[in-house]
Amino acid sequence: MTTHDHAPDKSLESIEYRMREAGRWLKLEDGVIETLIAPRRVLEVSIPIRRDDGTRVRFTGWRVQHNITRGPAKGGIRYHPSVNRDETVSLAVAMSLKTALMNLPLGGAKGGVAVDPKLLSEHELERVTRRYVSEIFAFLGPDKDVPAPDVGTNAQVMAWVMDQYSIGIGHAVPGVVTGKPLALGGSLGRDSATGRGVVEAASLVCQANGTSLEGKRIVIQGFGNVGMWAARLAAGWGAKIVGVSDVGGVIASEKGLDVQALVRATQSGATSVVDAGIGEVVARGVQNSTKVFSLPSDIAMPCALGGAIDKDEATALAAKYIIEGANGPLTPAADELLNDRGVIVVPDIYANAGGVTCSYLEQCQNYAHLQWDEDEVNASVVNTMRAVFKRLHTFSQENGLTYRAAASVLGVKALADAHQLRGLHP
Ligand code: NAD
Repeated sequence: MTTHDHAPDKSLESIEYRMREAGRWLKLEDGVIETLIAPRRVLEVSIPIRRDDGTRVRFTGWRVQHNITRGPAKGGIRYHPSVNRDETVSLAVAMSLKTALMNLPLGGAKGGVAVDPKLLSEHELERVTRRYVSEIFAFLGPDKDVPAPDVGTNAQVMAWVMDQYSIGIGHAVPGVVTGKPLALGGSLGRDSATGRGVVEAASLVCQANGTSLEGKRIVIQGFGNVGMWAARLAAGWGAKIVGVSDVGGVIASEKGLDVQALVRATQSGATSVVDAGIGEVVARGVQNSTKVFSLPSDIAMPCALGGAIDKDEATALAAKYIIEGANGPLTPAADELLNDRGVIVVPDIYANAGGVTCSYLEQCQNYAHLQWDEDEVNASVVNTMRAVFKRLHTFSQENGLTYRAAASVLGVKALADAHQLRGLHP
């Protein structure tokens, strides 16, 4: 039995399937795994705002707390037109597995508003954020549920979240969000943390296979927070970024793109990588952005949205390794096809966990009213990625499991153990 009364979307169906498979592997009772799958709380809210021209418009938002057994719920807020209830639940489940796998004392959550932030003015975006926060206010708090940025939100949006929550409480509560600006208690290193973890994961999987990241040809989909930092840091390791795509299309260079110049161009006004004047534009349009995966390469880093690689893209994909920077970028069919072909997939719940690891460090700094220096934060993120990879790699080898299956089993086991120890009330 599932937790919804209509057909689940693909991402939810697939993560529920993976949890059940992990439960079966662990020989958990059906009642236990179904309890772990069900989200603890799902809140759907209406967000009416006044536009700058005086007219009213209404959006729908969600906040899902999937698991809060091991600590406060933790997960990003996404602003994107395709945000919906089931996708938000599936992303919250992934957060629970991620924090459990990474052994962070946190649960899993996700939130979002079905809105295209690019169609709103800055003032309208602020009004959406404040109204959303006031609607989910009772859910939030440093010990209850701590949001962070995700697709379509950034440090400024987190600053508004912090302010709106703090107004309700009556004093500043920086610890209610992570990924906020430094001036409000944000952490050094948070910006780069997810991309840093993605590149560390790539380096570790290369090492485990007797090779290194240096000289590897990498293709990246998405040049936002995760993709941009992954490109910068991988280039710093001596890898060649041979293709990058975003909503505008695909650029490529066999010799390796000039990543620094690409970053400068996108930071100073180019709305897409195809308008940056770097490399060769090999395709235009969002519908062509997955063509980046068919370029000759060693490593593919999908760092945009879920479901980007389906059967067709998997068939055309050239790389030997896939590092999932995005959440859920492979459909189950693509995953199976790539597995059969011997492509090594490093799953999202590990590969992009540098972000939540750093968010946890930000929470620690907020609790202690301290700010750690950037090298200390970066080193802590990298050390956590290394320690967990060691466990994941050993577990997958010893049990003949893919990294994805091993990560799911380790995550589900940590959740199940915590449930077992706390017991069931009443
Ligand atoms: P972002 O909004 O900063 O960037 C998204 C990028 O993807 C942009 O370059 C955009 O052009 C591109 N994009 C969006 N839709 C696309 C499409 N249909 N085809 C091709 N490109 C498209 O987002 P982000 O923070 O970099 O997040 C990217 C992914 O990583 C998401 O799946 C997110 O859930 C995941 N993630 C982010 C973090 C984090 O710390 N930001 C942490 C863990 C996981």
